[in-house]
Amino acid sequence: MRSPPPPAVGCAPRKRPVVRRKPGATLEPPAPGGDHPVSLGALLEQVAGYLPEGELPAIRAAYRFADAAHLGQYRASGEPYISHPVAVAEICASWKLDAQALMAALLHDTAEDKGITQAELVEHFGPTVAMLVDGLTKLDKIQFSSREENQAESFRKMLLAMARDIRVILVKLADRLHNMRTLDAMAADKRRRIATETMEIYAPIAYRLGLNQVYRELQDLGFRHGHPMRYAVLNQALKVARGNRRDLIDRILTTTTKSFADADIKVQLYGREKTLYSIYRKMQRKHRSFAHVQDIFGFRVIVPEVLDCYRALGVLHAQYKPMPGKFEDFIAIPKLNGYQSLHTTLIGPTGTPVEFQIRTEAMHRVAESGVAAHWLYKSGAADAAAQASTAAWLQSLLDIQNENRDAAEFLETVKVDLAPDAVYVFTPKARILALPRGATPVDFSYAVHTDLGNQTVAAKVNGELVPLRTELHSGDVVEIVTAPHSRPNPNWLSFVRTGRARSKIRHALKVSQQAESQDLGRRLLARALLQQGLRIDELGAPDWNRLLHWSGNRSQDELFGDIGLGRRVAEIVAARVRLLDTPDAGAAEQPLARGALQLDGSEGTSVHYASCCRPIPGDAVIGYLGKGEGLTVHLQDCPQARRLFLKHPHSWIDLSWSPQLGGLFPVSLVVIVNNGKGVLAKLAAAISEHDADIAHVTMDEDSSQPTIELRFLLDVRDRKHLADVLRAVRVHKFVVRAGRAKPRA
Ligand code: MN
Repeated sequence: MRSPPPPAVGCAPRKRPVVRRKPGATLEPPAPGGDHPVSLGALLEQVAGYLPEGELPAIRAAYRFADAAHLGQYRASGEPYISHPVAVAEICASWKLDAQALMAALLHDTAEDKGITQAELVEHFGPTVAMLVDGLTKLDKIQFSSREENQAESFRKMLLAMARDIRVILVKLADRLHNMRTLDAMAADKRRRIATETMEIYAPIAYRLGLNQVYRELQDLGFRHGHPMRYAVLNQALKVARGNRRDLIDRILTTTTKSFADADIKVQLYGREKTLYSIYRKMQRKHRSFAHVQDIFGFRVIVPEVLDCYRALGVLHAQYKPMPGKFEDFIAIPKLNGYQSLHTTLIGPTGTPVEFQIRTEAMHRVAESGVAAHWLYKSGAADAAAQASTAAWLQSLLDIQNENRDAAEFLETVKVDLAPDAVYVFTPKARILALPRGATPVDFSYAVHTDLGNQTVAAKVNGELVPLRTELHSGDVVEIVTAPHSRPNPNWLSFVRTGRARSKIRHALKVSQQAESQDLGRRLLARALLQQGLRIDELGAPDWNRLLHWSGNRSQDELFGDIGLGRRVAEIVAARVRLLDTPDAGAAEQPLARGALQLDGSEGTSVHYASCCRPIPGDAVIGYLGKGEGLTVHLQDCPQARRLFLKHPHSWIDLSWSPQLGGLFPVSLVVIVNNGKGVLAKLAAAISEHDADIAHVTMDEDSSQPTIELRFLLDVRDRKHLADVLRAVRVHKFVVRAGRAKPRA
């Protein structure tokens, strides 16, 4: 192992001179990855402060690996390259990220710059670290456009990466922060481009993540490198102002420090200076010159307990007059994102307004490092509420581009539980939904809306048609294809993950089954009556009463339902109507007339399509009315149907297809191919190009044969659609034979 890399990585001036150090008052705590020398030793020391000893060797190993990979590579500043990943890891350590994130930080440029493969990383550091590095590498390749209209798309790309693992974004922000701190070594035009990208993409994301320190620093650095002249002028003016106000600040510090001591409140008192960028924004917004921007300085008071916040507030208000309307209690009523503090503005000794923020240590942690702090301190269990709040939070990120940039003054923080058991997926309009791991497009559609769920017929994930049972992954864009008359499929119950989808499907099935079987029963009876020369509409109340009395049903609907479910045979009921009508006719044994029942697709769950022969519209079909099972549609030449017919010859009715039929029907294809590279992919492409949804594929390979047999289960509209698909399949030279599977005997 080489000795640790040389120190001094940050060449950009980072130190924010605030106020002179006084007893009881200190400067802001050192910024993460700040001015101390960057080295493996310093990193490990920092890490040892919060991670178990056992995790240090892996971090050391990642360092050695990265060091070897970057050997001989130098940064624009002339330093050995390894100083950069170490500095990035140090920033991550200051956010107390876990060992895997730190390892990813150390390795983040090895794949991109040094061609280290994913497989190598998996072998050395495991799949998670490799996945993080891969995420970082991909993020680097994203071309962010600075054109306004493409902002939304850029953000969406960032969010996709973030939804995969929040650590990718945290490490990326650390990377960007360090690059911004060391931007001086770059050429001017490159500096400006990177500064713009930082202002437009990275700073807002840091803001939304609640990484307020990072947010302020990125903005300030972005301003400095984007507008070097303005920055220099303002910096000079601020220096002068700082000198002028030194007395004022000192007086306030001395007085308040003493007051807190007298009141016996333990405080840490920090002087705060607004960043140059926020002062600049304020000048622009209010059209003021620097001389008129007054609240450049403020103080932050950090106390041990919540109660101390209010005591400290009392002490301050006794000392200086508060400005009316400027007091805000974000402790009693936290901001939506969880930010807590007391804010008050006091009128200082010379009439200058000075803002105080009072908070506890814990509140401070959330306020400064937002998501990172929260990510570390999160509880293990992921409940539904946490998932929902995460989804809401991710959603809020999407609004960034619409945001009024004047909001810079209100540095909000966001906290989040990124639940490990959730996946985050997008609607085509970039709305984010959180679903439990293992969720399918059906869960997705029910999560969006019950009607969408009930009318689902197919799904596209990232633009590709997929089976409805496909497991969704974070970042997937899911599009649901609906048909207005479509109904939930009972099979969905075998794969949905969410309780919501399950109960909605059950409910819809129950309701529609009743309605559908009644409707089918009515149509079956009407048809049977017609064969008897009777019209169902012409039956009067006395006819119905006699019929119901005979059948024992309480209502017409109940009788229809019985017929629709096959508990009663329509022809027999119809014959009975005749019999009741003309008691002496003995008509029950009349031969049945011809006349087929039309399938129009509205039958839903009361009609099943037999899986032995898988009939599709256009096929010659017959219907079997099993007891209590509704109607099963078979091909006329299906061997199973023939066997059933021999057993129950009276349970069959003729069927025809309505020309208005809609929906998709499963059909089995057998394709014999000469095996070769990409054969399956080419077939799948040919099939989906013709809008047929592949629900399932199996492959039978007999090593003694040069050919293989592929079996596809497809969803098609009708025979013509199937013929189109078959034609497209047969075009390929490697296809020996393609056709519909024979019915199972
Ligand atoms: Mn980097």
